[in-house]
Amino acid sequence: SSCSTGYYRVSIMGANGVGKTALKNCFMSTEYMSSSDLVIHEFDENTLSLVVDNEESTMEFIAFTSDQKDDLPVDAYVVVLSVHDSNSFTIAEGYLQYLRNELDSDRPIILVANKVDLVRKRQITTEEALLLAKEFDCKYIETSAVLNHKVDELLVGILKQIKLKLNPE
Ligand code: GDP
Repeated sequence: SSCSTGYYRVSIMGANGVGKTALKNCFMSTEYMSSSDLVIHEFDENTLSLVVDNEESTMEFIAFTSDQKDDLPVDAYVVVLSVHDSNSFTIAEGYLQYLRNELDSDRPIILVANKVDLVRKRQITTEEALLLAKEFDCKYIETSAVLNHKVDELLVGILKQIKLKLNPE
C-alpha cells in the first residue's frame, strides 16, 4: 500500500489543572509503544509525527483560544475534564456547547476524562461523562497522564477520528 502523509491540527481545551499539559507531554515523550507500528518522531514541543498502519501523519497540538474560528483550520478538538473536579465537567460542557452549537463545528471531538488514578477522590462517574459525550456526538476515553494510562490510545484515537471524518467508509 502507498504511504500517505497528512498534517493535522488538534485543539486541546478544558478547565485549568485538568492535565492538558501533562497529556500533551505524554504524547511527546511516548516511550512505551502499545502497538509495534506506532512510531513517534518529535519535531518540537507541540508537533509530532506518527506512523500507524504504514501511514505517516503529523499532528500539531494547539491551545484553544476563543478567536480560533478566524485562525487556521482545526481538524479535531480534545476536551479534557478531570474526574476529581466536578467544576471541570461544567466547563467541558460549556466548551462542547460552544463547539457544536455556536461554532457549529462537525469536526471530531474527543471527550477525555483524565486523572482516573484518583479513584477515591473521584466525583465524575463514567456514566455521566459518557452521557455528556453522547449528547454532543463525541468519542470518550478515560486516561491518567500520571500513570500513562490510555494515553497512546488517545493519541491514535484522535488520528483515527480525523481520518474517518476525511474518508468515511
Ligand atoms: P492543565 O492546566 O490542564 O495544563 O493541567 P496540567 O497538565 O498542568 O496538570 C495540573 C496538575 O495535575 C499537575 O500537578 C499535574 O501533575 C496533575 N495531573 C495531570 N494529569 C494527572 C493525572 O492523570 N493524574 C493525577 N493524579 N494528576 C495529574
